[in-house]
Amino acid sequence: MKSIRFRTRLLLSFWFILLLALCLPAYYIFQTLEKDIYKEAKANALTQLNFVHWLLEEKPAFEDNLTFDRWCKKLGKQLKYRITVIAAGGRVIADSDVPENRIPLLDNHADREEIIGARKLGQASSIRYSITLKRKLIYAAKNINLPNAPSGVLRVAIPLSTVETRLSSFAHRFWGILFVIFIITTLLSFILARKLESPIIQIIQAATAIGDGNYEKQLDIETNTEFSRLSICINDMADKIQLNVAMITGQKQELEAVLEGMQEGVMLLDENGKIKATNQALTWIAKCVPSCIGHRPMEVFLNPEIQDACNEILNEKEHLRLKVPMPNDTVYEVNLVKIPDGGAVVVFHDISELVRLEKVRQDFVANVSHELRTPLTSIKGYAETLLDEKFRATDQADSFVNTIVKNANQMSNVVSDLLELTKLQQKQQKPDQLFPVNATTCFNSAMETCMPMIKEKNIRITNHLNDSIIVVAEENALIQIFRNLLDNAIRHSPPETKILVFAQKKDNNIVLGIQDEGTGIPLRHQKRIFERFYRVDKERSRASGGTGLGLSICRNAVQKMGGNIWVKSPPDDQSKGSVFYFSLRVRK
Ligand code: ADP
Repeated sequence: MKSIRFRTRLLLSFWFILLLALCLPAYYIFQTLEKDIYKEAKANALTQLNFVHWLLEEKPAFEDNLTFDRWCKKLGKQLKYRITVIAAGGRVIADSDVPENRIPLLDNHADREEIIGARKLGQASSIRYSITLKRKLIYAAKNINLPNAPSGVLRVAIPLSTVETRLSSFAHRFWGILFVIFIITTLLSFILARKLESPIIQIIQAATAIGDGNYEKQLDIETNTEFSRLSICINDMADKIQLNVAMITGQKQELEAVLEGMQEGVMLLDENGKIKATNQALTWIAKCVPSCIGHRPMEVFLNPEIQDACNEILNEKEHLRLKVPMPNDTVYEVNLVKIPDGGAVVVFHDISELVRLEKVRQDFVANVSHELRTPLTSIKGYAETLLDEKFRATDQADSFVNTIVKNANQMSNVVSDLLELTKLQQKQQKPDQLFPVNATTCFNSAMETCMPMIKEKNIRITNHLNDSIIVVAEENALIQIFRNLLDNAIRHSPPETKILVFAQKKDNNIVLGIQDEGTGIPLRHQKRIFERFYRVDKERSRASGGTGLGLSICRNAVQKMGGNIWVKSPPDDQSKGSVFYFSLRVRK
């Protein structure tokens, strides 16, 4: 339904109030006036009745009823009202307004109101419709008991038309004035309503503009009324809303920037457990195609553990933390916090690296323990046997002592390699700490160290390195790399074989290679041999004095110097052996 305009409503209200204010008193005045006029008319009728009675008293006796009727007719004509005399039984004896011959035909008047009243009280009056004359009359009746006239009730009837004419002319004037007042007040109300409506329309427009986010629109109501004060309040309110909206928008943007900048995935759940908002990082974790919004966590993570935790946090718990393994070998720590007004915040923190490091640490401790326990057990066993004096005197004692020394050396090697590796890992290698180094000199130095083993196995070293190959490196580290690779090549090669050392230039790098004709490394092990304590054949490596850390040290050292290390087994165009390559930069 279309609502009625404010101005129309105001006008209708004015009219209603006006009608009530004018009509009620008017009706009351009219009623009172009518009553007074009728009262006066009745009083007048009684006066006239008494006058006729007095005239009758003064009159000599009438001969008969006919003369009496004629006197009544004469008097009625003079006085211009009806005079009637009714006998005790109700029969009409004389009537000024009825022809003589019709008088006997008139109804019995005993039941007329004023006649009954007069009989009872002596005199009475009434206003009613005359059946005889067919019009409204004011009747006044009085008992007569005079010697000169017939006894009964004397009645005068004055036409009501005079009273009614007075009343109707009064009513006409009254309604006329009322109409004029109504027109004038309607006009005034219309002008007033328009004046009142104008600021209200302005206020409505301003409020609508504020609602639409247009806070610049200022209200300007000049008249010093409540409306001008209201306009000041609305302007003030618009300013404050603008300020608050700007503040909230700023905070929202800051929050969004923080959320978007976070590495942790964040999602907001509504009270029904559906995703309400997410940050960018979450889309990397979940399957948000095309968006996660409106879905349940189960649908996007395909993980019942996460869904159960979300249900729990929405129903009972305040805070929840769990570790969830996810696809691609990732592990997430999921923190769920309930929002007091409903819903929850869920934060996904990638702890895959932490978990991996923890596993590496555990493996490392286990490996070190294992590496040290084997020679230690052996040392303990042989040493305990040697405690026996009788045994010490036998020929085997020397070999036992040698085994103890060998195992002690093994342990010493493991510990020094471990220390070397730890040093390398802790070292923060800065580029400016690297200098041009002669790789050939470094190789020669490493070869010196390995010379006893080379001689022992009668291995031929073919050195294809120039006199001066300059690489950007740390001298000691480079010697260590050469030593470890050469040591491996010698240990894993049969006697009387050849080891080749060479260099190739590739872009800005020099690739150095050490190739042997040894046992070679199966393809499936090639990726892992650079890991700590990883060996293809544990027992053989240990027996040959290996610690399982040599290649790991090489990889760390090469990487610290900005290079790379890899293996090819067997080398190109060869059926056996392996070649270890590592690259280093030529200049800074
Ligand atoms: P280790 O002290 O046992 O040699 P490394 O880390 O130096 O430990 O080498 C890891 C493993 O790689 C060795 O145990 C061995 O199985 C394999 N390996 C390394 N170098 C060679 C090579 N030149 N020929 C064959 N196998 C090798």
